[in-house]
Amino acid sequence: MKESELAELLALADPAACDALYRRAYRVKCEHVGRRVSLRGLVECGNICAKDCFYCGIRRSNSAQERYSLAHGEIVAAARFAADAGYGSIAIQSGEIESEAHTQFIEEVLHEIAPLGLGVTLSLGEQEEPVYRRWRAAGATRYLLRIETSDPGFYSELHPPECSFSRRVECLRALKRCGYQTGTGVMIGVPGQTVEMLARDIAFFREIDADMIGMGPWIEHPDAPFPASGKTVLPRPDRLRLALNMIAAVRIELKDVNIAAATALQALDPRGREKGLLAGANVMMPNIIEGCRRKSYRLYEGKPDGDETSAAAREALARSVAAIGEEILWRQHGDSPHFRAPAVSGE
Ligand code: SAH
Repeated sequence: MKESELAELLALADPAACDALYRRAYRVKCEHVGRRVSLRGLVECGNICAKDCFYCGIRRSNSAQERYSLAHGEIVAAARFAADAGYGSIAIQSGEIESEAHTQFIEEVLHEIAPLGLGVTLSLGEQEEPVYRRWRAAGATRYLLRIETSDPGFYSELHPPECSFSRRVECLRALKRCGYQTGTGVMIGVPGQTVEMLARDIAFFREIDADMIGMGPWIEHPDAPFPASGKTVLPRPDRLRLALNMIAAVRIELKDVNIAAATALQALDPRGREKGLLAGANVMMPNIIEGCRRKSYRLYEGKPDGDETSAAAREALARSVAAIGEEILWRQHGDSPHFRAPAVSGE
């Protein structure tokens, strides 16, 4: 589809037109991935971050944010829980740290959880290629690094000068070279963002040959300097609609990629994730770290922090998925159908 046509789809606001868009995307999803949902138990393993992204609650200079990092044993225990609960995969995410100690720490965790046989996604930010290679060799198979926006000018409005757009793109290429199923994505409904930019983001996903897409609505954070006062903020229902339109447009364009129904959808609407599935998403990432730690991984205001680890919460999730006629792929990795495993150079 041409970018101008994609932009038109993204701009749809009439409820009947949006429903038709979601139905169209759903047909593409049925054809390429089926009416199935894969789960990733999400382990937010630390909120210490070297970056200072203007929109983010855990950015370096937010001194109002208490910091934590999970111990080796806590992450391993979470992975065991995920395996026992039948999630099939985990996703390990944290703030961005580049150090040999951190690289080794993650490497050791990966070695220890390897025997569990889970699919393992990492989301640990920008790293040098040898670091990606080491984590890949230690057992990680997927990596999620959102580009946030593919528009370099807009990127520099959202990030301080030391955050380099071109390095982020280079990291995505390095991840592909290392043989990861590579995921990227953007925030949706960011003040100043246009549907034309979002349409180009989809072209960017294609260019980079993304296997997975993780996108969610932008949500304000009270301690973040972005947006500057006076910027127009899209009302929340409009942001939810735009996020669903974007999921649908990505499904229609990219067809066989994994698309996550992000937690941020749920922050805007209690049924946000289910709506995401109906608009074309096929992955959910229930949080599996209990208690107070969860409350510290505050990327944005109102991030859901209900306990998703209990048997009751699991049943509720299964029920909500069954209610829309879909089935959870328990005990499976749920790899991206788009990914054709290449020979990993250097292995
Ligand atoms: N450090 C890792 C991932 C941690 S943050 C990395 O750099 O990739 C995970 C994601 O949260 C970010 O990619 C960003 O898209 C999202 N995020 C941050 N602040 C947000 C906000 N205010 N609203 C919505 N999403 C936000």
